[in-house]
Amino acid sequence: MLTDAVLAGLDPEQRTAVTAPAGPVCILAGAGTGKTRAITHRIAYRTLAGEVNPRHILAVTFTARAAAEMRSRLTELGARGVQARTFHAAALRQVRYFAPRLLEGRAMPELLESKARVVGLAAARVGVRADRTGARDLASEIEWAKSSLVEPGEYPVAATKALREPPFEPAKVAEVFAAYEELKRRQGVIDFEDMLRAAVWGIEDHPDVAEQIRAQYRHFVVDEYQDVNPLQQRLLEAWLGGRDDLTVVGDASQTIYSFTGATSSYLIDFPRQRREAVVVRLVRDYRSTPQVVGLANAVIRQARGNEARLRLELVGQRPPGAEPELKIFPDETGEAAAVAKKCRELIAAGTPASEIAVLFRINAQSETYEKALAEAEVPYVVRGAERFFERTEIRQAMIALRAAVRSIPGETPLVQAVVEGLAATGWQREKPPPGGAAREQWEALAALVTLAEEYAKSPTLEPIGQAGAVQRDLTLSGFNDELARRAEQQHAPTVAGVTLASLHSAKGLEWDAVFLVGLADGTLPTTYAKTPEQLEEERRLLYVGVTRARQYLWLSYGQMRSSGGRARRPCRFLPQLERNSTTERAGGDRSRKPDRRRPQVSSCRVCGATLLAGADRKLGRCPTCPSDLDEDLYERLKTWRATMAEELSVPAYVVFTDA
Ligand code: ATP
Ligand code: MG
Repeated sequence: MLTDAVLAGLDPEQRTAVTAPAGPVCILAGAGTGKTRAITHRIAYRTLAGEVNPRHILAVTFTARAAAEMRSRLTELGARGVQARTFHAAALRQVRYFAPRLLEGRAMPELLESKARVVGLAAARVGVRADRTGARDLASEIEWAKSSLVEPGEYPVAATKALREPPFEPAKVAEVFAAYEELKRRQGVIDFEDMLRAAVWGIEDHPDVAEQIRAQYRHFVVDEYQDVNPLQQRLLEAWLGGRDDLTVVGDASQTIYSFTGATSSYLIDFPRQRREAVVVRLVRDYRSTPQVVGLANAVIRQARGNEARLRLELVGQRPPGAEPELKIFPDETGEAAAVAKKCRELIAAGTPASEIAVLFRINAQSETYEKALAEAEVPYVVRGAERFFERTEIRQAMIALRAAVRSIPGETPLVQAVVEGLAATGWQREKPPPGGAAREQWEALAALVTLAEEYAKSPTLEPIGQAGAVQRDLTLSGFNDELARRAEQQHAPTVAGVTLASLHSAKGLEWDAVFLVGLADGTLPTTYAKTPEQLEEERRLLYVGVTRARQYLWLSYGQMRSSGGRARRPCRFLPQLERNSTTERAGGDRSRKPDRRRPQVSSCRVCGATLLAGADRKLGRCPTCPSDLDEDLYERLKTWRATMAEELSVPAYVVFTDA
């Protein structure tokens, strides 16, 4: 049976979810327990069993990359034609499709590129002086309001109720909000939330549209349901129209978008709202080593949010790996250099660069790592597709490729046409420049060629933004359309390299090796997090970060931001995990008498890692640099470190000495 293959490789609880009959299904489970796998298999199972037509399924994922992964996984399982999209992409498609009817011939409004800019203009109109940061903060406040279905007039009350910390007086924010809406209307542009709203009102106000949409979408699946916001929920309900063939999966401990209006309450309340729902809980973690799982449990154990009462400890299923430790560097540059060096080592030892990620709290941290990796000649990609299509060389390349349609003979095979078209921008396939920013641009353009290759030959590649079996146009102009669709949906091609990403954009993904960097108070949690709720969200972010690692997890921070600054403390959510790991270490080795003399602190001259001298006070080589150490010494140091960790209240640190 085709369905047997779909059920193989699932545990009993996952099977319950996969084979549940039509109707509401809810999987509540921690990271790495196979939620995404379960819903993907549920779709394949129902399709292959002939229970549902793949064309009638809409799977909603959180990122375009997750959607693409789900589609390719479904194809592997033998289920084609399922629509897997983000809320945004699904709404865009719907609005586009119905625009001619709903707009009665008027042009579809353009999507606003920079919300902050228009918000800045709106602020000026109503006499609110906002600099760039102010405009950005106002923009996110407006985003929160719109995602929470709050109108300008309702803002002050709603913001107070939701314990928002607006950048200006609530009444002022409301004025800016109203002015912003007015400005957009006059300019004939819409923003991201308007698009979702248009999709909602399109259905709610037009019975014929509703009928057509509901005939198309009959079975719904939503991944990462803990981060759905009221606007998205309303769209989901509009699609459902009272029907209940809906599978949702999520982990309340991974709610990391509540600052934009997301709330885990829809997930948590689901079983109560739909009493007939099949509810499944998963606890086996198939992603990470037991060490990483232990750390993840320790990070989230102290959580006080909504999720605390629902949380189940994860149970690691994979073979053991290295103990994660926190490495402290004198500054961020030293930290980044050490990360780059370790990346090189991992790659040299056989880990593909694409299986490594460096994750940080805020995008501004990216640059230091981009530099360090470029210097170490480690290929990398910055995640966040908008970045890819916003890159100057990509924009220029897209213009050049459109121009090339006229100059390159129609019969030239696609990949060659793309290479020739790119040559107009000075790019040469055979001549990759050596490391650095030169090199990075070359890689980005090379990614376009790789995409052309996939587009030309892969029978499984589904054109982005179109459902199922569409006849693909394999000419250069067909490829240009594909690029335009991708740019619009922020669907970047995969470039082989170490991933640099914010913790927010790492959701749902996994890598063999993960570097969590900048784990200092003030960065994680960010200084902007003040209320208990905001701090809880920061804790969940750390949990999301930790649980991205399959095999190897590195935790670090640089003590000084700049020379002369105050030494920073480790992320406050880590001591709990440290105590957890140190008791375990010490517990295993009670017979040894710990060395209680004070250590000597210095830093490695090569990579900058903090070094603590052992009992004999001789400083040794640091473990991020190649170092031979005999087992006995290592054991001794472990015990010693456990005690010292408590004394210094540093979670863990690099400790090595000569014997
Ligand atoms: P997250 O909360 O981070 O989104 P998740 O619960 O969605 O995680 P998945 O991404 O579905 O977890 O699965 C995590 C990893 O474990 C994947 O590599 C997946 O292939 C693997 N996996 C899931 N279930 C099983 C299983 N029953 N047997 C073996 N591997 C599994
Ligand atoms: Mg998942």
